Amino acid sequence: MARTASNGTDQRTPADLLLDFHGPVERYHDREELGDFGMPARAFMEDLLEPIAKAGAMSRLGPLEKVHAFWFAGMSCDGCSVSVTGATSPSVESLVLGAHPGAPRVILHHPVLNVESGANYMRPHEMALSGELDGPYVIILEGSIADETRAAADGGYWSGQGEEPWGPDGRMRTVSTAEWMARLAPGAAASLAIGTCATWGGVPSAEGNPTGAMSLMDFLGKDYRSAFGVPVVNIPGCAPVGDNFTETVAAILYFLQGFGPLPEFDELGRPSWLFGETVHRHCVRGAYYEEGDFAEEFGDKECLVEIGCWGPVVNCNITSRGAINGVGGCMNVGGACIGCTMPGFPDKFTPFYKRPPGSLASSTVARMVGSIMRPLRKYSNNNMNREVRWDVHGDIPSGWAREKSEPGVVSEISHRFYDKLRRSTDTGRNEVEPWGKRAEWTKERDSDREPDLTLRAGATSGRKE
Ligand code: SF4
Ligand code: SF4
Repeated sequence: MARTASNGTDQRTPADLLLDFHGPVERYHDREELGDFGMPARAFMEDLLEPIAKAGAMSRLGPLEKVHAFWFAGMSCDGCSVSVTGATSPSVESLVLGAHPGAPRVILHHPVLNVESGANYMRPHEMALSGELDGPYVIILEGSIADETRAAADGGYWSGQGEEPWGPDGRMRTVSTAEWMARLAPGAAASLAIGTCATWGGVPSAEGNPTGAMSLMDFLGKDYRSAFGVPVVNIPGCAPVGDNFTETVAAILYFLQGFGPLPEFDELGRPSWLFGETVHRHCVRGAYYEEGDFAEEFGDKECLVEIGCWGPVVNCNITSRGAINGVGGCMNVGGACIGCTMPGFPDKFTPFYKRPPGSLASSTVARMVGSIMRPLRKYSNNNMNREVRWDVHGDIPSGWAREKSEPGVVSEISHRFYDKLRRSTDTGRNEVEPWGKRAEWTKERDSDREPDLTLRAGATSGRKE
């Protein structure tokens, strides 16, 4: 992963520096001695799921029967794990059971979800390092990468997983998450960062940053490519939309299987089809913005930009995708966007819940335009809320205490003019009267029919004469 800079000097990535610090791995656990410790189910998760999995050796359609997925937690709150386990399109369950035709089964190694623990849990990780795993693997990171060289210099670590006999003289040593990533990334079919901490650095790398926290991309360097030639894939969000992650995983599985091209990613490694738009463009409050109608406090139904929403400049799809199972999502439930999917989060968005300075220009223009557009739309909306027959009779037969006044002369004239405009390109306009879709319904003809209608209905007409 080391690269040569334009001035010819050798540039070591943070991953290179960490591996230089620790040196090569020379010892693994003695598998004969692992025993049952950490095996309450007396079985690996892979073996437990295999009998009920849909994809197996006999049903596979492509070259891959399974892909191992190693999940690591760096400087994280585990929120990414929580949101991904709530994903529904597709769900984690469907991926680990191989329920998607053609996609290989995902063998998930997750420190919280797996039934095995301790050295037995770490065993497949060691096999991946030593090239003994029975299939390709991907690595997944939630949380940011700490600069573990700082902690290791004092004999400690910030985030780690598993004790390995990698210490001096084969002593057990807790292996940092960063070290696992540095060792496994070169052989991985793909390296995925989930959540804003792993994708950009996030909260742990905010101003001050005592741990030297950074993203997976920063850690591995810009020249990093997986064994399949893929740079780091980034699915940001704090917490991310679980479906964004599982859908990306499914797309990558089909690519690895050879059933599809590499999905499209943007210049920051985000899935383009998920992060190509600003959240504002699909916001449920967008029309309020356009009409210059703004909330003054939380709980109001209008656009939230004046109380701190950054949606117009933030790449996120949560308003259209929902938070879980298509439901929820910041502005859908009353929250302003604080830019949690963005590389600049949090430093460039603080203080939260204060009006973004740049919104002043656009909201002022929207207010001016909206002050004209809103009454005009209201005017047309009133007209569209009337059946033509009611216009002809000058009355609305609603029993819901409708108290709106009937349109006056000015209103009637303007609506007739509007109607002419609307139908000006209608090629059938010569055959039908422009005012009303049933021009043959004149007051006179309707009143001719009125007695019959009344008799048939057996009711008293309440129409005006
Ligand atoms: S609430 Fe935010 S994202 Fe929604 S319309 Fe207003 S500024 Fe745009
Ligand atoms: S709308 Fe904003 S705060 Fe909400 S998830 Fe998207 S980027 Fe984060």
